[in-house]
Amino acid sequence: MIEFKDVVKEYQNDTLATDHISLKIDQGEFVYVVGPSGAGKSTFIKMMYREEVPTSGQIKVNDYELETLKHNQVPFLRRELGVVFQDFKLLPRLTVFENVAYALQVIEKTPDEVKERVEYVLELVGLADKRDSFPDELSGGEQQRVAIARAIANKPSIVIADEPTGNLDPDTAREIMEIFEKVNAQGTTVVMATHNSFIVNEYKHRVLEIANGKIVRDQEKGEYNDES
Ligand code: ADP
Ligand code: ADP
Repeated sequence: MIEFKDVVKEYQNDTLATDHISLKIDQGEFVYVVGPSGAGKSTFIKMMYREEVPTSGQIKVNDYELETLKHNQVPFLRRELGVVFQDFKLLPRLTVFENVAYALQVIEKTPDEVKERVEYVLELVGLADKRDSFPDELSGGEQQRVAIARAIANKPSIVIADEPTGNLDPDTAREIMEIFEKVNAQGTTVVMATHNSFIVNEYKHRVLEIANGKIVRDQEKGEYNDES
């Protein structure tokens, strides 16, 4: 569950990136965040995993009240979240298996538990046969699958994705979407900022449209562009 109450984010340079946003996202929802470049989409989602801190207002993620969250609690919050980026952010010197395992090893787990979980998530994203490859030996779509495997390795209740198909061709973007659909079907909340209109129109979900830091549309099974 994600809840924003009257959230304002003003950057040092007086840019008002989020202008009194209030909303609730229930566990298991799939939500697109759309809007023009500079509208505040990234700021909005970065505040969910505390990469940015609001200037005022309240944010609740599962049982965590972010405005009172102590620094030493942030790692616990982040174990409940998986984050996927447009540029994948894989570690270049680690294999596919190691990239995913790395995310898990920070938590107390035996080597057997790590191996079992990594193999499971690589199977889920269709990359079991690439486990010993390095990121630069993979296509963009394959690298993004590894990033998704890494994001879901800790069984997060929420997956947050910022333009995950931004660097991918349409067919590859669809393959990536099928994985997010599968993750969502298992009960995981998915929040995805995107410019990809064909994806939003093809895989219908709730659409939050942001313009100038405000939510200007919140629509169940919406289109990329407001058709109402
Ligand atoms: P979007 O993801 O929709 O493109 P952003 O959240 O990245 O929008 O940006 C919203 C506004 O905040 C823009 O005007 C942007 O220039 C500004 N902004 C984003 N990050 C910073 C930052 N770290 N410092 C100052 N201004 C920022
Ligand atoms: P910061 O001081 O910027 O918060 P951190 O060391 O906490 O730096 O985070 C390092 C990087 O990891 C950041 O770029 C952040 O976007 C990313 N990150 C934070 N939380 C997660 C997560 N749960 N999953 C994946 N990446 C994350």
